[in-house]
Amino acid sequence: MSDSPSPAPQPRTGGSWRWEPPSPEALQKMLPQYEIHMLVGRGGMGAVYKGTQLSLDRAVAIKVLPPAVEQQDAAFAERFKNEARLMGRMNHPAIVGVYDFGSTADGQLYFVMEYVDGTDIHQMIAREGRLPPQHALAITAHLCDALGYAHKQGIVHRDIKPSNVLIDVEGRVKVADFGLAKLTSQSQHSSLTQTGMAMGTPDYVAPEAFTLGRV
Ligand code: ADP
Ligand code: MG
Repeated sequence: MSDSPSPAPQPRTGGSWRWEPPSPEALQKMLPQYEIHMLVGRGGMGAVYKGTQLSLDRAVAIKVLPPAVEQQDAAFAERFKNEARLMGRMNHPAIVGVYDFGSTADGQLYFVMEYVDGTDIHQMIAREGRLPPQHALAITAHLCDALGYAHKQGIVHRDIKPSNVLIDVEGRVKVADFGLAKLTSQSQHSSLTQTGMAMGTPDYVAPEAFTLGRV
């Protein structure tokens, strides 16, 4: 795996909602402290850009969340801040580090995180087909390590799925989007709305999450 070439990021589309993420140029204007290079992809809960944090000259991934009505609430802003702090406190080699968060001038929430130069399991399976069991088990062991670390700190991922498991060019596993499903659980873009339940991605969510009052 370590000798596999760095694949070009594959922009993907996803989500059924109609939200046009800002162009890299538009985002650049809102976040002048970063240089925004390109849109890497988008999923059910936002769009991810590759950029450079100019002050430290380091590669970053910036995730912009789609604007939602409840994001205007003071309570949501507080929840967002608390969750972002929790995510920012995690320090583990198999967890994508969160460097910063905030809201753009036009009110779109964003996270700045470690940029993982590589691919994700969703793209890997799309390209190579089913992974050999040994390979899949090796990835799973790192995944369990990351989840165990987070659980000890009381943080539940809530949206474990192939596209949230990234693999860098050295073959290192990095889990992304910790806690984000909880943060956006009451969002209009969740798969089940207005229930107040913690949500993830329907195809991968734990069955008990579909039971009202659980999880
Ligand atoms: P999804 O619902 O598919 O996880 P996301 O918006 O979280 O959608 O991610 C979109 C794409 O951005 C994914 O294909 C993922 O590979 C890529 N991506 C997410 N986080 C990072 C990161 N920290 N570094 C590099 N690529 C990332
Ligand atoms: Mg993701």
